[in-house]
Amino acid sequence: MNPSLVTLLLFLSLKFLARAAMAAIPTGNVCLGTTNYTSNSQYEQNLNQLLQSLQANVPVSGGFNSTTLGTSPDQVFGLGLCRGDVKTTECTKCISNSTSEILRLCPGSKEAIAWYDTCIVRYSDSNFFGTVDGYRGGLLNTQNVSDVTSFREALGTLMRDLSSTAPYNPLMYASGQAVYADFFTFYGLVQCTRDLDAPQCEVCLENLIQKIPSCCSDKLGGQIISGSCFLRFEDSRFFTPSTTTAQPPSPPSSKVGDNGGISTALIVTISVVVVCGAMAIAICMYCFLCRTGKGKGSVGRKKSHMSLLFKSRKSLNTKNGHEEEGCTIVQGEEKFSLLFYLDTIIHATSNFCDENKLGEGGFGPVYKQVLQGKLYDGREIAVKRLCRSSSQGVEEFKNEVILIAKLQHRNLVRLLGCCLEKGENLLVYEYMPNKSLDTFLFDLERCKLLDWAKRFNIIVGIARGLLYLHEDSRLRIIHRDLKASNILLDSDLNPKISDFGTARLFEGDETQVNTSKVIGTYGYMSPEYIMQGQISVKSDVYSFGVLLLEIVSGKKNNAPELFQQGQGLVEYVWRLWCEGRPIELMDPSLGETCPRNQVLRCIHIGLLCVQVDAAERPTISSVVVMLNSDTSSLPLPMSPHFLYGNGDVTETFIFKWYQQN
Ligand code: AMP
Repeated sequence: MNPSLVTLLLFLSLKFLARAAMAAIPTGNVCLGTTNYTSNSQYEQNLNQLLQSLQANVPVSGGFNSTTLGTSPDQVFGLGLCRGDVKTTECTKCISNSTSEILRLCPGSKEAIAWYDTCIVRYSDSNFFGTVDGYRGGLLNTQNVSDVTSFREALGTLMRDLSSTAPYNPLMYASGQAVYADFFTFYGLVQCTRDLDAPQCEVCLENLIQKIPSCCSDKLGGQIISGSCFLRFEDSRFFTPSTTTAQPPSPPSSKVGDNGGISTALIVTISVVVVCGAMAIAICMYCFLCRTGKGKGSVGRKKSHMSLLFKSRKSLNTKNGHEEEGCTIVQGEEKFSLLFYLDTIIHATSNFCDENKLGEGGFGPVYKQVLQGKLYDGREIAVKRLCRSSSQGVEEFKNEVILIAKLQHRNLVRLLGCCLEKGENLLVYEYMPNKSLDTFLFDLERCKLLDWAKRFNIIVGIARGLLYLHEDSRLRIIHRDLKASNILLDSDLNPKISDFGTARLFEGDETQVNTSKVIGTYGYMSPEYIMQGQISVKSDVYSFGVLLLEIVSGKKNNAPELFQQGQGLVEYVWRLWCEGRPIELMDPSLGETCPRNQVLRCIHIGLLCVQVDAAERPTISSVVVMLNSDTSSLPLPMSPHFLYGNGDVTETFIFKWYQQN
């Protein structure tokens, strides 16, 4: 943007700013651009269309939308932002008013910004997204404050508090109030456009705060504005206090109050103490539940994410700076852009808001991204927020992330990176819109969406993903917790294995290890693993077999109807097999049209995978071959292992296995 063309707003002396805002008068506007566009030009068409799109999209996109239309030289970039406290109806009104007014105020301008009391509209022929715009002007209330010294101090504190809070609020907005001269309350708010990231928002607001002394630090009200942020204060409350808006910390004098006066300040102080206390207790309980696994009634829970997988790996050499350019880890010659900023994730997940929770596993809740952003190159993400109880060090955690991120296969969920800031341990994955397989398979209605072709594709996909882990990747990895809820489905219902939290890395020629700590999910765990702590690729094959039988039958391995008959799924299948009627296992929702031979072959392979003797189970590469052939002969299965229980056998658990001798 050409600074010489920046036309500043004059400070307008308005006695009551709020009154001006009631009418459809802009707080201010600047018309910019070196050249004008001509009537009926392509640029004008694009601009009109863009303003219409802002009108439609800003109110329904949480009060902010940025968009671009056309191609250079007629390309238009534009955004609209509503004030963080206004409701959708008010936002709609303000944006539709300002998108038409901006054309009237700035006829022919290729670049313009218009500020209203409750919204901003901005457009340009050059890309301004993600760039901090400088000070543009302001408005002031002509009335002077009674105690200038006290007011300046309180105003400075409030504005700095708000501007350190807003960047980390999903709306990039913060409002609050303070008291000066022991008695008078005043109110303030700050907000940034959401094309900025948090550090940029802080810079933008800081630029404006620095303008306060020369503008209005002795006045009862003032607004200072730029194209990417604004601040405002008044002696009366001009915004709707919001429970969802992050409130700034109290100023040192504890004179923050809602309605003014000392008594209110006291009430607020007490409330803050009570709320903080409650939050501290809640956080402690949350961590305790995560640690003990009592949150969901499971037998126990995993303690630290991925800690077994990479126990033996050396620390990375990060001498080149592990956070080069803010998000790059260097490992030898290779560079990995894996670190995400916390504020980016907070912004993307609406501050881990419950509405965006996709589910919760043994390590913590998983959230989806709600806001699209250029930071993700159009990719959607899911964020796993690990419980803070992990004893793992930062470097080890990063090492693990790098290692898992290197695993790339279309049947494995992609780990995009992590975030380690302010005590948070966050894992960022590609987003899988159809969530996990169990949500289809065991649901009376959704199971109908999985016809046989899709189920077979899922079985083959899981086998291929496992083959990659066991044999084709540079490492040999045993997943250890293969189950329906750890298979995620993409938009076309293709399967991807997820959750490597329990995975175990095998080094060199290692094929089997013994552990005294058994981690997995009862019902999917092989007998030698659960009874002797033996881990090998064959323990995963056993879990795969159970999963395969669940996919064919649509029944959980601990289905209550089977349990009532005193059997688990594997035993039930074996009985049907022995009685010569294995086809009865098939999920009735699959109908009559399934290729019976393929279904029977799958059941046969499933039984081979759950053999008692690990040596009798096929490797996963043999399974892939068996699945891909309709004719190759299969060995006859022997009686499999029956292990079932009446507890919650779908939850991952840990227990220590003590050797008898
Ligand atoms: P986990 O802790 O990995 O078992 O995840 C818990 C639940 O969150 C899963 O069962 C899924 O429903 C959901 N989930 C996990 N990761 C993703 C993802 N990448 N995309 C969509 N949903 C996910």
